[in-house]
Amino acid sequence: MKLRRRFLTFLNMAPKEGPEMKDLAVFIRSLSLIFLFYFILTSVALFATTYYIIAIIECICSSFFLLSFLYTYRNRTNFAMNFFGSFIVAIPTLLTLVTGWKTNFQWCLIVEILVLYFTLEIDPQTKRKLLLVISIDFIALALLTQLFPNNLDFTKFWAIYFHIMSAIFYALVIQVIAFFYSNKFNAAEQNLRDTNERLREMAATDTLTGLPNRRNMTNKLNMLTYNYERTNAPFTVAIADIDFFKKINDTYGHEAGDYILTSISAIFKETMRGKGSVARWGGEEFLFVFENASGAQAKTVLEGMRTQIEKTVFHHKDNQIHITLTIGVEDYSEIIGIEASISKADQKLYQGKTSGRNQVVY
Ligand code: GH3
Ligand code: MG
Ligand code: MG
Repeated sequence: MKLRRRFLTFLNMAPKEGPEMKDLAVFIRSLSLIFLFYFILTSVALFATTYYIIAIIECICSSFFLLSFLYTYRNRTNFAMNFFGSFIVAIPTLLTLVTGWKTNFQWCLIVEILVLYFTLEIDPQTKRKLLLVISIDFIALALLTQLFPNNLDFTKFWAIYFHIMSAIFYALVIQVIAFFYSNKFNAAEQNLRDTNERLREMAATDTLTGLPNRRNMTNKLNMLTYNYERTNAPFTVAIADIDFFKKINDTYGHEAGDYILTSISAIFKETMRGKGSVARWGGEEFLFVFENASGAQAKTVLEGMRTQIEKTVFHHKDNQIHITLTIGVEDYSEIIGIEASISKADQKLYQGKTSGRNQVVY
């Protein structure tokens, strides 16, 4: 178990050239190891069947895969990939010519075709040329091995051994390739989804206060009016505007003004929890929506919030700042529509402004 973990850690080690090459390095490493074992284990069968020279050639060839494996631990991941790519074509071509089609070495070429298709590091034109060369090579091997049959004379046992080895290794290779690229594509897809989600959130949120912005609230209102048509679920809108906010900016500075906007937004959010939602509608104007609530119910809640804010002392730097709010409340009316309902709330807000401010008008 410990040995397995150690091996996996070693296999997953990032190359010295940086973590961005790690995936490719691990990929080439895994394939190189698989092919190293494949060639060594099949050479055993050749030795046992007394094809010594072919077995020795195969052993020497397999050392190239050991090299490409080792290269990935140096600053040579791309080089290792090209090195691996060249030998995974050259060696099987040679071995197929010498040992025939039945030994299955030719399928290494198909593996390289897959690897090439998935490799983003090679430019498309070079890729097309390489794919053409490998395909021609593969077809030529099919033809040559039929024209000049060169079937090795294995005993039953070694023939079975040879076939089982190729079955195991090709299944393994295909799985490694599929695993590596499905991980890569899934990660890219997840990344894209996360980015989209972040963008959507950013487009719907006011950056200063973190409240939903006007666009977001407009969507929400459209949804509520649509629901109203089917369910008649009542809702109430209210607009709040800070009293003499310009004076706050002028007296304490714009930064203090921003601080007030952020602080009261937190209070607004808390007030509306479980009751509906609130958005930054304009500079220092906020739109509240009370779901399943009458204007009278909304007024009570807003009155409580208004007194709370009136009593709160906002500390910014060395300043103690007091603010008050004026709020206009209106039930949503299907007859006049959402825009007119909001206008009515706005008119009530104006009424409140002209009759002393710091009040909720319903
Ligand atoms: P009233 O009681 O009539 O509402 O007076 P008021 O001063 O609040 O009204 P007015 O509309 O004249 O001023 C609103 C001010 O809000 C003007 C603008 O500089 C300020 N403001 C708008 N957006 C922001 C913001 O994001 N940050 C800060 N600090 N100030 C803002
Ligand atoms: Mg104001
Ligand atoms: Mg205003």
